[in-house]
Amino acid sequence: MQATDFILAKRSGLAHDREDIHAFLHGYLAGDIPDYQVAAWLMAVCWRGMTSRETADLTSIMARSGEVLDLEGLPHAVDKHSTGGVGDKTSLVLAPLLASCGATVAKMSGRGLGHTGGTIDKLESIPGFRAILDDATFYQQAREVGVVITGQSKRLAPADGLLYALRDATATVESLPLIASSIMSKKLAGGAKAMVLDVKVGGGAFMKTPAEVRELAQAMIAIGHHAGRRVRAVLSNMQEPLGRAVGNALEVQEAVRCLQGEGPEDLSELCLTLATEVLAASGLPHERSLIAANLKQGRAYERFEAWICAQGGKADSWEALELAPGRSQLTAWKEGVLAGIDALGVGQAVGILGGGRSRKGEDIDRGVGVVLHAKVGDKVAASAPLVSIYHRHGRGLEEAIALLRKAFQLRESGAPLPLVLEAVREVGGL
Ligand code: URA
Repeated sequence: MQATDFILAKRSGLAHDREDIHAFLHGYLAGDIPDYQVAAWLMAVCWRGMTSRETADLTSIMARSGEVLDLEGLPHAVDKHSTGGVGDKTSLVLAPLLASCGATVAKMSGRGLGHTGGTIDKLESIPGFRAILDDATFYQQAREVGVVITGQSKRLAPADGLLYALRDATATVESLPLIASSIMSKKLAGGAKAMVLDVKVGGGAFMKTPAEVRELAQAMIAIGHHAGRRVRAVLSNMQEPLGRAVGNALEVQEAVRCLQGEGPEDLSELCLTLATEVLAASGLPHERSLIAANLKQGRAYERFEAWICAQGGKADSWEALELAPGRSQLTAWKEGVLAGIDALGVGQAVGILGGGRSRKGEDIDRGVGVVLHAKVGDKVAASAPLVSIYHRHGRGLEEAIALLRKAFQLRESGAPLPLVLEAVREVGGL
């Protein structure tokens, strides 16, 4: 097959055979097909789309382009994926919660990019925490502790790594089949048979409307089913940040409080919903009251302690995280009801304080961030604190305050936002 014929076929709106997709992708991986031809094909996909069968084929070829984790011997191996948001520390709570319910969570997580955070950056704010483990330690910890989370291995779905970098540089990220196959290739290579996808919708997410995210969720569920996995999705709100803390160390502190049964309510609620869905998918008992009891009565917290200590954190090291020394506050400029908190603006403010990276590999400051004193729907008095800012010697402070000032909408009235929009369990399309 000539690469030009392959590109032309997609440009003309035709569907590819599995063999042709395989040959094209492997030609690219081998260096026989140059970036510019793959970029042309990606642009054709953006315009013409892919059938669900093509999307499933592309995904499984990318998933098998590298190492595939073998979690077969582990009891009830489950996985979770979030499409990314602001203040999203769900994995820190959900992983030990699932382990306390009899599941095993052995997974790889990413670092933050742009305005969204990443689980590995958050975990690395715990002194001594090791995010890089060799294979033997990874599997042993999964067996003995029930939770292990490491950084994304370059050996996992390397074809996606290459394609993603090219999409990023050629304005071809926003394509449903390309996004669905990119996410699911890493999930299939991750080896778990049951998984839950937390698909975020709203200003702080990369998809803005429920209709778009529902379609993405259904496409990903279909890919999973096609590959013999049990996949469910939860559409959740990312209009305002999740919880009250945004910034790596501050988010770990909040996750620990949640594991100690002290909320915040939206974070506990989302973790319980995701846990219920994925435990049901894996065939474990999934009554919500049982799961909630594990959170309230400290069994999930015990798993968290065992997990962090197994990866190098000393006992209670999460109680003494380094926070940036500078403090500032934004206060309400009038009395009113908080009608909106733009999650994107809050994420950008934390990035400007030094807590986010604009390019892969950049160093970040894990001690900076913000804590919200009010959430959407709350009444606030004039001059009441809206948000505390943790900064390092004023770095980025002025710009961060301007972004936060714009992010908070004070009106005459406003109502709390629904957190969970819906659970999606249906296969779409395939
Ligand atoms: N996350 C991914 O892993 N891939 C995409 O294409 C978009 C978000």
